[in-house]
Amino acid sequence: MHINLGKIKRRALVIIGIMVFLLSLTLIRIGYLQIFKCEEYTNAVIDQQTQASRVNAMRGTIYDRNGKALAESASVNTLICNPKQIESDNAAAIVATRLAPIIGLEYDYIYERLTKTSTQYQMLKKRLSVEETAAINELKDSKKNPETSKYFKGITFESDSKRYYSYGIAPHILGFTGYDNDGRMGIELMFDDELAGEPGSIISTRSASGTFIEYQYEEMTDSQKGADVVLTIDETIQHFLEKSLEEAVSEYSLKEGAAGIVMNPKTGEILAMATKPDFDVNAYNDITKFVNMAVNLDEDEKLSGYNSDNKEISLQATNLIMQKMWRNKAISDTYEPGSTFKIITAAMALEENVVSENSSFYCAGFKQIADRKIKCHKHEGHGSQNFIEGVQNSCNPVFMELGLRVGSQKFMEYFKAFGYTEKTGIDLNGESGSIYYQKSKLSETDIATSAFGQGFSITPIQHICAISAVINGGNLMKPQIVKEIRDENGIIKRYQPEIRNKVISEKTSQTMREVLESVVSSPTGSGKNAYIKGYRIGGKTGTSEKGRNNNKRIASFVGFAPADDPEIVCLIMMDEPQCAVRYGGTICAPVVADVIEDTLEYMGIERQYTEEEAVTDSVTVPEVRTMSVEDAKKTIQAAGFKVRVSGDSELTTIVDQLPKPGASIIKGSTVIIYTQEIDEEKLMTVPDVSGMSVSAARQQLEDYGLNFEAVGAGLNSAKGAYAVKQSIEAGKKVQPATVIRVEFRHASSD
Ligand SMILES: [Zn+2]
Repeated sequence: MHINLGKIKRRALVIIGIMVFLLSLTLIRIGYLQIFKCEEYTNAVIDQQTQASRVNAMRGTIYDRNGKALAESASVNTLICNPKQIESDNAAAIVATRLAPIIGLEYDYIYERLTKTSTQYQMLKKRLSVEETAAINELKDSKKNPETSKYFKGITFESDSKRYYSYGIAPHILGFTGYDNDGRMGIELMFDDELAGEPGSIISTRSASGTFIEYQYEEMTDSQKGADVVLTIDETIQHFLEKSLEEAVSEYSLKEGAAGIVMNPKTGEILAMATKPDFDVNAYNDITKFVNMAVNLDEDEKLSGYNSDNKEISLQATNLIMQKMWRNKAISDTYEPGSTFKIITAAMALEENVVSENSSFYCAGFKQIADRKIKCHKHEGHGSQNFIEGVQNSCNPVFMELGLRVGSQKFMEYFKAFGYTEKTGIDLNGESGSIYYQKSKLSETDIATSAFGQGFSITPIQHICAISAVINGGNLMKPQIVKEIRDENGIIKRYQPEIRNKVISEKTSQTMREVLESVVSSPTGSGKNAYIKGYRIGGKTGTSEKGRNNNKRIASFVGFAPADDPEIVCLIMMDEPQCAVRYGGTICAPVVADVIEDTLEYMGIERQYTEEEAVTDSVTVPEVRTMSVEDAKKTIQAAGFKVRVSGDSELTTIVDQLPKPGASIIKGSTVIIYTQEIDEEKLMTVPDVSGMSVSAARQQLEDYGLNFEAVGAGLNSAKGAYAVKQSIEAGKKVQPATVIRVEFRHASSD
């Protein structure tokens, strides 16, 4: 504890010989088993002999990596009273009557405390609003209340602090504080000691005979503000991830929600981590946000009762919902990784030299293991393929073969070396361990199914760390969520990247980066829905069963970029999609791609277009108004566009154009030039192109006098791509030549 000795000494000298000082701290810490109970007020238990109480310290701030204050404290008043200064029971009755409506508490509750004359400290209400404070000050004001103000002498304020989460993001990471400003979850809990600071104390005096002569509070030691915690989280990237997950929950009807992590694979720094649906970080026990975002909640017998008229049922359901909404799925949920685990199997097989890039395999749609025929997701089989094609196709028989070649002992050794048998030790509460085979030797069936990610359950945080090791040169990093602890004097502790294990060689890692890039970039790769124009992305799809013999699935995708020198890796898992297509490669890859694209752009990583991509590059529409028709045509064609003239052909000067000059549209689009003013009434109706191929959608939009731009996986390989979204919905009226951006996707069966 920090005590300002000098100050105490000075004051002590003045009154020495007359008074006795007693200094103690009264810590008011009650563990609320039920959050509901937090509205109940507790007394400061002050021993009759120790006339001192605590002055709460201002809690430290939680910053993101760029210094944005994600959690900060502001000063608020706590209402206290000294019953010994309440002159009579009559005075107590007057005070209680006036206070009750202002602070919204029962008369009896207040009266009881005012008349507890055995103590001189009673807490009446914490965290008064500005209005409450003002109203009470008015009661105490002798000019405004000449008759009754004298009764309020014993009513005073104590300074306390309230927590604000300004950006409203990352509730599972930041956590929350309880009624006494103590950390209850997340960083608030894990770094409570650092954030809390040192309380100061108020001391009062008494005479040698033991009777109080003057009841006057004096602050004797200053409270000391808590230290600040700087996270590795980037508020902007966290926002990208949260936004994408939120959209995914509703678009794909994710019954059990979604979790995602964005990490720097080289250092293990977590840049973003989110679970959706989640809760309002500024109202941690309010279930409204969760209930509004959750899918098919009403179908859940236990949870649907939250709005029941039966109080007991509603309370029970609300409690269950709270447990659920506070759960950080990214570290607390275990799941079968499915095909995303093939990254690990491939890495160990390469490292053990039981396979090379050119090794050949054959998939007949299944592989015979002992007495079982274990199927490939492509039932008709992938036929003959080399190692790289096997990874691109995510072919199960290829991976079963790789697992068997690695063998039981080595497989388990790598499983352990990649960190799957222990918790990562991330500085957040609630991390789960994995569930895996506890036997010394795996059967052939065990190995074969493990090789494609079945038969064991791991957490997303374990998985992203292992995958990072595969792509970062071979180092298993400890995931890091806190960058440093500091106070006004500077840094107290700096957290450094920590290598837990060297698992594979740089050479294997490099091969894996190349192979995984081809999973996304190859026109036949199973991860091509993660393609982003101008960026090199590597990745792997996964679709796993949730328990056997039910229809529940988890779709996942892990992607990283830039593929040759990864700066970020992103893992997203979608829990129980209720949509028609539930493959990770179809529904999850595009979401990971969105997060990666937003993040790379934000990080200022420049796009580098391949030759093919450059052809479809955007160019700026030139200014041709006031030009002659002939000059305008030439100028537009020279810029790489098609041109169409509209209006009276007798007129030879261009008065307007669409799109307007300065617009950025892809080469080959049509620019309409007008010899007469544009008829603003003449609008085009946007057609519905959903489900169409790239060429059909282009043709359809051109027929409607509109421009077309393909985005998403259809840009990488048009063959087999189908339209899933259009930037302006069908039926809307738009100006001619408006660009309609159409997002394409490929069907993926893994
Ligand atoms: Zn196959």
